[in-house]
Amino acid sequence: MNAPSEALHGPFDVAVVGGGVMGCTSALFLARAGMRVAVIERGALCRAASGVNAGTLTLHMTRAALVPYAIRAWKMWMETDQWLGQGVLATAAPGLSLAFTEAERELLRARAAARREYGAQIDLLERDAALAVEPGLNPAMLEAAFCATDGFASAYLTGRAYHAALREAGVRIVEQTPVTRIDRVNGRYRVFGQARDPESGPESAAASLRIDAKRLVMAGGVWLEPLLAMLDVHIPVKTLVNQLIVTERMPPIMRSVLSIANGLLSMKQFANGSVLIGGGWQGVGDRIRGPVETIPQNLTGNLRLAQHVIPALAKARVARIWLGLEAETADAMPMLGALPGLTDAWVIGCVHSGYTSGPYMGKLLAQTMLGEAPELPLFDPARLVVQAAAPALTPRENTE
Ligand SMILES: Cc1cc2nc3c(=O)[nH]c(=O)nc-3n(C[C@H](O)[C@H](O)[C@H](O)COP(=O)(O)OP(=O)(O)OC[C@H]3O[C@@H](n4cnc5c(N)ncnc54)[C@H](O)[C@@H]3O)c2cc1C
Repeated sequence: MNAPSEALHGPFDVAVVGGGVMGCTSALFLARAGMRVAVIERGALCRAASGVNAGTLTLHMTRAALVPYAIRAWKMWMETDQWLGQGVLATAAPGLSLAFTEAERELLRARAAARREYGAQIDLLERDAALAVEPGLNPAMLEAAFCATDGFASAYLTGRAYHAALREAGVRIVEQTPVTRIDRVNGRYRVFGQARDPESGPESAAASLRIDAKRLVMAGGVWLEPLLAMLDVHIPVKTLVNQLIVTERMPPIMRSVLSIANGLLSMKQFANGSVLIGGGWQGVGDRIRGPVETIPQNLTGNLRLAQHVIPALAKARVARIWLGLEAETADAMPMLGALPGLTDAWVIGCVHSGYTSGPYMGKLLAQTMLGEAPELPLFDPARLVVQAAAPALTPRENTE
């Protein structure tokens, strides 16, 4: 049975809907600038894409135009002690993107050139030089692109780190509470949520909640489409169902972050010896059901490719596989900025390689909302608006 509506002490200066890396970083910088902030999260902080991703902090896989953002964010991840407090085991490691065929070599060179134009320091290495960086590589490889601004983090630690930082900054954290409606009342946003009892499963409704705030930040990841529709803003969002595979612990077999020019592989070995294998291979799922199941051919395809690149992986045993939902706009570029037709409402999300860039994107939005000139341009969501709810977009084959 629902308890009576609880109005949290307010009004708040900002209500942030969605507690992933985008919402949490925006909330953190706004609170540190003196704003009273509430984060309302359907589940637990950073347990959707921001907690289950591969943790690669890379320029190779980042879209070229996002490289300047990713470079700044990479630095933030490496310096979490200076702005976040607890870290996420961010580790700098060389990044190699590989070519095994002539077609991949061409792609590799084109991708490296495009990223260099945006400031990435990427050099091309012949086979022997690449083998000196990563001796475990299959020597059938032809050429590699090398980038020192690469590495990885342990994404499952993200929620713990942000929780502590937000609490310390005085942010009101409301978890296990899906936002169900947003009204505009007397020049403020009134956000309604249905708190659920985590003990009794996701469908249970424990109490309803109401928050009034002057400003609104929508940061709901793949759920941005239905969330924005609550404000009568219609922006289609694709859902990618990304597969990840982790092996049992192994002796050291690799020391760099590896990818293939065609984007179908990403791989690194953590300090505990397990190897994480991704590359945007797709599974079954959607934003209503969540991740449902893997597709066997995609699982074996991903593993075969990994073993081809690092032959020592032939001895690896798979410990676990999982799927996570990643959001993408129609033009595969972020939504980051003021929502069209609304006052004091912003959106942040659908950032490709968004874990890498997340901290900087959130900081940029906070800067803008605080009236400062943003250091780099935002990505106007108005370009993505459609007249009414559009048919669902078909996911691309591959991301990450
Ligand atoms: C499997 C996988 C691997 C990836 N690998 C990498 C990688 O290696 N490197 C990289 O840079 N990027 C990677 N990404 C992308 C990256 O994880 C995302 O771009 C990033 O985490 C998105 O952050 P977000 O805050 O926008 O979304 P999310 O983390 O999804 O956060 C959105 C939040 O909104 C909440 N929410 C939704 N609806 C409501 C509601 N009604 N009320 C309240 N809250 C709501 C959700 O519960 C969720 O917590 C990967 C993604 C996936 C899925």
